[in-house]
Amino acid sequence: MALIEIRNLAKAFGTVKAVDGVTLDIGSGEFITLLGPSGSGKTTVLRMIAGFEDPDAGSISLDGEDITHLPPFDRDVNTVFQDYALFPHMTIQENVEYGLRTRKVPKVERAKQALEAIASVKLEHTADRLPHQLSGGQRQRIALARALVLRPRVLLLDEPLGALDRQLREEMQIELKKIQRDAGITFIFVTHDQEEAMRMSDRIVVFNEGRVEQVGTPQDVYNKPATRFVAGFLGAANILSGEDAKKAFGKLKTVSIRPERMRLQPGNSKISSDESSVSAVVQEAAFVGANTVYIVETEFGFRLNVSKTNTELLVQDKSFAAGDRVLVVWHNSQAAEIPA
Ligand code: ATP
Repeated sequence: MALIEIRNLAKAFGTVKAVDGVTLDIGSGEFITLLGPSGSGKTTVLRMIAGFEDPDAGSISLDGEDITHLPPFDRDVNTVFQDYALFPHMTIQENVEYGLRTRKVPKVERAKQALEAIASVKLEHTADRLPHQLSGGQRQRIALARALVLRPRVLLLDEPLGALDRQLREEMQIELKKIQRDAGITFIFVTHDQEEAMRMSDRIVVFNEGRVEQVGTPQDVYNKPATRFVAGFLGAANILSGEDAKKAFGKLKTVSIRPERMRLQPGNSKISSDESSVSAVVQEAAFVGANTVYIVETEFGFRLNVSKTNTELLVQDKSFAAGDRVLVVWHNSQAAEIPA
């Protein structure tokens, strides 16, 4: 049985259907990410799980108990928000102890648990400081410690890394994942950052306009997108349909193929029997460090993006330039048919 069962959940604000019939099972100990563009309903789903928002329809159960309309403090879930409001006049340790104090945990035990939680986010040395004496990233980690100390079954995290710069964000992604794994807590994580979602999650739930487009492992949603929206939202994709798909792939379906799953060869070269190709002319070649990204115009008039990983420093650069005639080549297994 799933730890959390969400059934046909719906919530409207005036005429806006923020959440429009969401059904989802979340397993115990799972790191699951709600991913989607701004306004797609992720936060509203999270707030309904937390109890801050009352659903118009549908149900949420936790460990078999219907919690749909319970107040937040009667649910074994905790939330970490992006604007990690710590109490400014309390020390870090007092901030982390606060929840335990309201639960009437005795003083010595409280201090012990708080210090353990602070250690778990590697900030032991800050226990006696005030929040303004910490950096943004450190305050974020303390907000996390404050939630973890209460040992909730489920931790809800709404863009918790949104305010951090790139390097710190990537460090925290690794740290968070490790804390989640070690503590065995179920994490429900909201982000609009595709790479962050793929890096951290056991499964990703892709949202669009209040609905779930696809649920799956990072590999599933990237390699086998269920809808055109998912194909376009997670990473770059060449999506062809109608006559264009028929010319390139021989079928009148919608087909998606990733830029890195295609390669360029000289225009008059050969391909193997399990590959396909189209002739094209390079329009643009952009060096972006790890990759070179080509935009080519095919013999059929549509354009494709092709990406080549720059695995070595070429003494003599043999890559293609604008105006070159090329073959765009792909292995037949790399073209993903999109069902919806
Ligand atoms: P973001 O990534 O920008 O936070 P989101 O996917 O989390 O977006 P939600 O915050 O769930 O999206 O919002 C879904 C829709 O509901 C949006 O159109 C939003 O404007 C609307 N909405 C959310 N909360 C309210 C509210 N309290 N009052 C009115 N409209 C709201």
